[in-house]
Amino acid sequence: MASEAVKVVVRCRPMNQRERELRCQPVVAVDCARGQCCIQNPRAADEPPKQFTFDGAYHVDHVTEQIYNEIAYPLVEGVTEGYNGTIFAYGQTGSGKSFTMQGLLDPPSQRGIIPRAFEHVFESVQCAENTKFLVRASYLEIYNEDVRDLLGADTKQRLELKEHPEKGVYVKGLSMHTVHSVAQCERIMEAGWKNRSVGYTLMNKDSSRSHSIFTINIEISAVDEWGKDHLRAGKLNLVDLAGSERQSKTGATGERLKEATKINLSLSALGNVISALVDGRCKHIPYRDSKLTRLLQDSLGGNTKTLMVACLSPADNNYDETLSTLRYANRAK
Ligand code: ADP
Repeated sequence: MASEAVKVVVRCRPMNQRERELRCQPVVAVDCARGQCCIQNPRAADEPPKQFTFDGAYHVDHVTEQIYNEIAYPLVEGVTEGYNGTIFAYGQTGSGKSFTMQGLLDPPSQRGIIPRAFEHVFESVQCAENTKFLVRASYLEIYNEDVRDLLGADTKQRLELKEHPEKGVYVKGLSMHTVHSVAQCERIMEAGWKNRSVGYTLMNKDSSRSHSIFTINIEISAVDEWGKDHLRAGKLNLVDLAGSERQSKTGATGERLKEATKINLSLSALGNVISALVDGRCKHIPYRDSKLTRLLQDSLGGNTKTLMVACLSPADNNYDETLSTLRYANRAK
């Protein structure tokens, strides 16, 4: 039962220009029908490839539309019915996390999971009979274990996590924005995205060093046949995780090294929480080990659904990082 609640898919992007110029060789093979992904160690050609199986495996020809319809759709549908859900994009910088979550405007098939989720939510709102919805959005980032409101009046201000006996863990002072349309949601997403902390690493000049969480809260009030009001609430967290690369490859020093250490700590805390949930036998789920897992506590486990999209580069020079992403994803399923 626990494993049904957590789904993990991998997505391998095409070779980029830099990898082509460096004449990189592909080391990742994807078998979509079986949900399998194989990786060949370029330093040991006679070694058999390492094979992993997931709930889905997507390669360069697959568009985000297909990934959404096959794997994200049921999760978002659950949120419109009053359940909580979380979608993560995991992977090293440049592997396609933002491409998957935010996506492109054109072609439309490559629009990201976030705008598709907006559309999905508002379609449900418009189709529902005898039901009223209140949709509110918030957007925050966790940078160096500090929480900031990407839509707040002061985006530099550090916000505190608080615990309420009924509400659970929440961010004190986080701004909530009532939204009535897809267009409004998209404007908010763009405005917040520009406020993220980005850092320059050797791998990508626009690398995200923070975890960003876009949350859609839906309050559903339905009137039953006896005229009685029923209130439910669902929450969808759309999480673009910071790059998972190890520090040596990024050339990080000083502040950047400090950041990288915190990133690695919170990603491993997330991995521990998800694998404890998947295991199903653990009594203690270590939510408290990082801000990321504390904050998502009510949307990971229980009757919530979680999807992780692990993003991969196909190139041989990223072999170590790609293998570590596959191992991380494999632990989560
Ligand atoms: P990340 O968010 O993991 O750092 P990006 O999403 O910014 O990485 O992707 C890096 C580059 O690769 C971008 O130029 C992006 O457009 C491109 N890219 C990523 N995934 C794909 C894909 N599946 N198909 C085509 N291009 C992609």
